[in-house]
Amino acid sequence: MAVDPQGSITQLKGVGPKLQETLERLGIYRLLDLLIHLPSRYQDRSQLTPLSELRAGDECFVEGEIMGSKITFGRSRSLEVLVSDGSRDLRLRFFHFNKSQQRILAAGRTVRAFGTVAFIGRNLAIAHPEYQVFDEPPPPPKAELVPIYPTTQGLGQARLRNLTKALQHLDWPNAPGTPFAQLLYLHQPDDLGRIDEISQGLALDELCAYYVVMKRRALKRRKEQAIGLPQKDGLGRKLLDNLAFELTRAQQRVVRETLLDLQQNVPMLRLVQGDVGSGKTIVAAFAAIRSVEHGCQTAVMAPTELLAEQHQLNFRQWLEPLGIRVALLTGQMTAKSQRQTLAAVGNGDIQVLIGTHALFQDKVVFHKLALAIIDEQHRFGVHQRMALQSKGLSPHQLVMTATPIPRTLTMTLYADMDVSVIDELPKGRQPITTHTAAQPNRPELIERVSRVLSQGQQAYWVCTLIEPSDEIDALAAEEAFAMLSQQLPQFRIALLHGRMKGEDKVEVMRAFKAGEYQLLVATTVVEVGVDVPNATHMFIENAERLGLAQLHQLRGRVGRGSLASRCFLLFKPGVSQTGQQRLNALRESQDGFYLAEQDLKLRGPGDILGTRQSGEQSFRIADLGEHAHLMPQVIKRSEALLNAPSQSADAAYLEVLLNTWASADTQHLSV
Ligand code: ADP
Ligand code: MG
Repeated sequence: MAVDPQGSITQLKGVGPKLQETLERLGIYRLLDLLIHLPSRYQDRSQLTPLSELRAGDECFVEGEIMGSKITFGRSRSLEVLVSDGSRDLRLRFFHFNKSQQRILAAGRTVRAFGTVAFIGRNLAIAHPEYQVFDEPPPPPKAELVPIYPTTQGLGQARLRNLTKALQHLDWPNAPGTPFAQLLYLHQPDDLGRIDEISQGLALDELCAYYVVMKRRALKRRKEQAIGLPQKDGLGRKLLDNLAFELTRAQQRVVRETLLDLQQNVPMLRLVQGDVGSGKTIVAAFAAIRSVEHGCQTAVMAPTELLAEQHQLNFRQWLEPLGIRVALLTGQMTAKSQRQTLAAVGNGDIQVLIGTHALFQDKVVFHKLALAIIDEQHRFGVHQRMALQSKGLSPHQLVMTATPIPRTLTMTLYADMDVSVIDELPKGRQPITTHTAAQPNRPELIERVSRVLSQGQQAYWVCTLIEPSDEIDALAAEEAFAMLSQQLPQFRIALLHGRMKGEDKVEVMRAFKAGEYQLLVATTVVEVGVDVPNATHMFIENAERLGLAQLHQLRGRVGRGSLASRCFLLFKPGVSQTGQQRLNALRESQDGFYLAEQDLKLRGPGDILGTRQSGEQSFRIADLGEHAHLMPQVIKRSEALLNAPSQSADAAYLEVLLNTWASADTQHLSV
């Protein structure tokens, strides 16, 4: 009898309560979940490599005679097994081992091992290889592609492999369009070409499922009620007159698009994309004003305390002269002031509430929430977006992001939203000259920063670590701070990193903005939103450790005023070729959209979208970098499926699609 793919994983032989728990940590609850828990790669074990041809860093499959073994007491106790194939020696090292392992790995036997080769001193070694021991000369290796799975503590590759092998023996439903046969193949393939072909087909399916879910979500939203906010008292006009600058045409257009949406009594869900510094915040302010004009409240959500604080300052400056009451709510506030703020939010006294994820707490109850503004959306999961939504009667949502992504990707990933693009920077912005330096001449850099600071400008010095690490060879912020403080005693230098207390961070940032500090040594906490127009120079240590998007964001902290700005990307020699290309792309361009496309080409968009961190769009098969070219096809096919008559083959196929992919990860795909 055919098995139910949605059935519990415990039906599989050998899955007891303990293993069930472990599997749940991988998101595997149902048989289907295991089936779509696909290998992240495959090891080719069809070829044995002679030991003389091994190079450090190679992942290899080797064979040799065991010459002997001993227990060594270096930094930690380990079992070292000496192997030779006549061409060279190799050591297999085990830091965790037991008596029986020691017995099995006996001299005179033949061992076949798989692992990554490294040099220990002058000796080649593999630590914790997978291995097999033979008494007789072993048979030639089978042509085999061994799947390597993403896994979790307490679940080894071999065990996971056995589980997916067991899937092969189940009787999967075989209706047309069901992807089970293909999925099974990916767990036990024999041909790399076939893998690509099948993955491509399944990626298309998965993206279609995603698109359909997003579209249905949009349709559902259109049936909900929101408070319509038509044109009213002209407060927006007043803000416009008060502004020290003129809106760019792009800003005007996006404000118009947003206000038009707000007039409707259907909840808006609009994504504003705009490169760093394009001026998204003021657009949000105009939307907030419209909500206030109707006696309604607005929530503004930022991903970090720093940014929330900064938004508060900006909104205050723009809105308070119009008599609008703005407040900040963060997790760092004292219980008392939180309580006071919450009371004022509850009775409607506060009209614009700005905060971090603290806004999600149940105790935040709005009097009349009409609009939610979410800044740097890629930092939050969709999940959180929904949580805020449930606070009022379907508030309008304005989502802002500085991560530009190619249009076809936008149309798929944000298929549930309407999209506005601010594709123009404010006038008078100076281009940022970007330098890359593989072996920075430190005295010259110090000399340069000293010159810049003496002229009254400010600078950032960004590091990728807070404190020195044994594992990672990179200059830590604390080290840089000590070094710079020592070499530039005549300047006021501050240190800013994520492990500082929220109020301290805010104070440092305020003081830097006010010019009380001239140089800010920071970690990537300054990546988003920080706006200090007088800062003109940025030095980024170990730029090779950061993604293109992140570097672009960081660099966007300078070039915000009318003075020429420079960014120095410092890195270690020996950066990978892709790393080098990434740095070159940054040097050549300041256009976020261009960089997004380059990033997509170079390494997939996980980073440019910032999604890998938030886990928002974690596709099983689809890789947005690899499969970006499928997007037009995804849209066309999905639209056809969405419009299919209910009894048709297409409708049945859509059911299969959604059942397979859409329920896999309820975090982002529940309808
Ligand atoms: P982002 O899009 O990166 O969030 P911000 O909203 O922080 O950009 O704006 C960056 C800076 O540019 C702020 O200091 C803001 O006041 C200023 N700004 C915004 N729009 C304009 C404009 N049209 N002309 C001049 N400056 C502007
Ligand atoms: Mg911003």
